[in-house]
Amino acid sequence: MRIVIIGNGIAGTFTAKNLRALDKDLEIIIYAQENYPYYSRIKLPELINEKLNFNDLIIFKDDWYKSNNIKSFLNKKVEKIDHINKKLIIKGETEKVPYDKLVLATGSMPSIPSIKNANQMLGNGVFTLRNIDNAIEIQEFIKNNSIKKVVIIGGGLLGLELAKQIKDYNLNTTVVEFFPRLLPRQLDIDCGGMLREIIENLGIKVELNATTEEILLNDNNSIKGIKIKDGRQIEADMILIQAGITPTIDLAKSAELNTNRGIIVNEYLETNQKDIYAVGDCIEYNNQIWGIIPACIDQANIVASSILGNKNVKYKGTIPKNTLKIIGIDLTSIGIFDPEDKDLIGAGWQILKNIDEKSNCYKKIILKDNKLKGAILFGEKNAIPYINKNIEKEVEDKELRKAINLYEWICQICGNIYDEAKEEILFKDLPKDWKCVCGASKSEYKNKNLN
Ligand SMILES: Cc1cc2nc3c(=O)[nH]c(=O)nc-3n(C[C@H](O)[C@H](O)[C@H](O)COP(=O)(O)OP(=O)(O)OC[C@H]3O[C@@H](n4cnc5c(N)ncnc54)[C@H](O)[C@@H]3O)c2cc1C
Repeated sequence: MRIVIIGNGIAGTFTAKNLRALDKDLEIIIYAQENYPYYSRIKLPELINEKLNFNDLIIFKDDWYKSNNIKSFLNKKVEKIDHINKKLIIKGETEKVPYDKLVLATGSMPSIPSIKNANQMLGNGVFTLRNIDNAIEIQEFIKNNSIKKVVIIGGGLLGLELAKQIKDYNLNTTVVEFFPRLLPRQLDIDCGGMLREIIENLGIKVELNATTEEILLNDNNSIKGIKIKDGRQIEADMILIQAGITPTIDLAKSAELNTNRGIIVNEYLETNQKDIYAVGDCIEYNNQIWGIIPACIDQANIVASSILGNKNVKYKGTIPKNTLKIIGIDLTSIGIFDPEDKDLIGAGWQILKNIDEKSNCYKKIILKDNKLKGAILFGEKNAIPYINKNIEKEVEDKELRKAINLYEWICQICGNIYDEAKEEILFKDLPKDWKCVCGASKSEYKNKNLN
């Protein structure tokens, strides 16, 4: 059986890897538009300031493809799918490529919000970062134009990680975010505020509640800055846009696959056309698109079984998990982080939360009927393995509190409870002369959870 995969990002490559692990005789072929073997996009910002070069990013070198007997054709764009005859048309080639089963792993591209002059200036002072070529292009533009001031539109994970690397390049850096807080998809308002302070302490300026309306140009058509809807203007000679993703679905449409925002798939990662599957950033399942690596990995596992006829495993979605990758900042957000937002509070939902401003630490745990539904951990990494292991599982209060290091303290005199997960101050930080409601001193309290 000949399986052709379009796209050699993590979703396409892991599909090939999993297929090979299940069957050593399959013919597996990958067509990839980019001219690089499988690499990680995570460290792309570090190419810009030359902390890394593109070879450092490559994960599977030529020998991996050879030893796994996977044929990989780079720099080959699939232009059309002839799904009736089960053949692919490759750009610049006359011979069509036959397949028995086809996997679309075409990924996504950065979204460009509707901003005056953004599309017109793309590649000429306005850039997005998705691949190695983009990073090289940005680096060359900075060098060739003696860039000094950069505005990054988008205060999400990628925007902030990019901002840090731009700042490390000694450029004046401003992040502009539409929402009233940074990382609006990962943080609540309290933690967003703490993060803003830390980001600003790195020397990165932050503008919130800022809808960019226009990219301002000089008379010679170079970048002058941006104009925000409320009238604010920010000077810049280069603009980087990291404002979400758009799944790559044009090819799918040409094969009459059902699409909405992404390519619509069922729980087996099957599209509406027989023998055509889709995985990764390009898919939409249950009205959701993911855009994160854990989802690609889950889907690549399931599609491999599905292609080989095993219908015992179904895709049920992936719990969103994000970590901000800036050295010195420990920040992880997983699952549901703000049930207040969803109007879910009550009805079995419980929040354990502590803001320790002294040590810049924020912990928030969301439970429903004792099941761990989500967490924000800021300035705290010891609890991450426990949270990852137990997400969507029932947890024991004692174990959870040990993992997150937030305890209930009980007064030996009156039984009053001081719960660190509900109070603002940790028990150890209460002043020495602090008194219980019954008048007992601090020393009369014992840790309820460790006994
Ligand atoms: C800078 C950056 C940092 C990131 N950091 C994180 C992180 O820390 N954690 C995390 O979970 N996620 C992160 N992500 C997101 C993550 O990289 C994506 O979720 C993941 O790359 C998606 O993989 P994919 O294989 O679905 O698509 P892609 O990686 O986009 O790969 C798809 C490939 O298909 C190719 N292709 C498309 N159409 C065709 C065609 N017609 N013919 C041939 N080839 C085609 C594309 O050129 C592309 O190379 C980051 C992304 C970026 C850009």
